[in-house]
Amino acid sequence: MSWDTVIGLEVHVQLSTQSKIFSTASTQFGAPANTQASFVDLALPGVLPVLNQEAINMAIKFGLSIHGTINQETIFSRKNYFYPDLPKGYQISQDAHPIVLGGQLDISMAYDTPMFIEIARAHLEEDAGKSTHEGEDEGYSGINLNRAGIPLLEVVTAPVIQSTAQAVAFLKSIRTLVRYLNISTGNMQEGAMRCDANISVRPSKEDPLGQRVEIKNINSFKFVERAIEYEVKRQIQHIESGHVVKQETRLYDAKNNLTHPMRSKEDAVDYRYFPDPDLPHVRISTDYINHIQTQLPELPADKCKRLISDYILKP
Ligand code: ADP
Ligand code: MG
Repeated sequence: MSWDTVIGLEVHVQLSTQSKIFSTASTQFGAPANTQASFVDLALPGVLPVLNQEAINMAIKFGLSIHGTINQETIFSRKNYFYPDLPKGYQISQDAHPIVLGGQLDISMAYDTPMFIEIARAHLEEDAGKSTHEGEDEGYSGINLNRAGIPLLEVVTAPVIQSTAQAVAFLKSIRTLVRYLNISTGNMQEGAMRCDANISVRPSKEDPLGQRVEIKNINSFKFVERAIEYEVKRQIQHIESGHVVKQETRLYDAKNNLTHPMRSKEDAVDYRYFPDPDLPHVRISTDYINHIQTQLPELPADKCKRLISDYILKP
């Protein structure tokens, strides 16, 4: 029996601002551990976050370049959860009022025909810190908070990607786009672009969507390809042997080329999102959006089309 695969991607793009999204701490890559974590990034009592305007500008650029709608009133919320590398106990993110709604990413460059991937939303949020385990043999793990508060733009696709090849084409196109826009290095090996892949299978395109499994934090194109391929096979085998796929978060193990369960998937309600009382709503005027529009360069997909037609080139 053949199965229809459905993939939705969540791509975290690290925005290349000089300072963090809510503090003046530097975002420079590769600094010694914990030298770039300010009181604000740790949310010590009495501190207040102040939004970095450049992060907003970059998100607007991205939104315009995918022909999305810029939400003219955008709201930051607290997403509550415990994690050792999240000293605040919550992450500032956007829930109901993300800065970008809708749009589509042009991935035609990877194909001979026009092809677009529908984007559901893109929202701003702060990164968490990072646990390090180099000292594990001596009996300790470390926490590096340099990354806490680094601005991320999380781009979420609709569940419309049909194959591994299309998923990889999407990631390559988004990387090229953010580099053209000069809003991110797009370097996956530095963690400046990371991807969660949501995968489900169903008997045919006419059936309702199957239960999705999310694979977290995949950090290279090759691993995205392998992780999806493995997960699709696993789900099909699971169903064909009489089991039901359950909603969960899995991790990709590159060494053994398989995915294993990490946790059962939380629903949004578990995070107790609420608007962050320390941050005002952000109102963005039409004039401001138009002003940002004038700063957009020629976009990669447009340039590609222009070169093909001007010089009679093959795609
Ligand atoms: P969460 O933060 O809980 O992962 P999001 O709404 O941010 O939720 O992301 C959901 C992602 O899962 C989107 O990329 C969406 O396209 C994808 N998705 C939703 N349902 C399915 C499904 N049945 N199969 C595959 N992908 C799905
Ligand atoms: Mg997710």
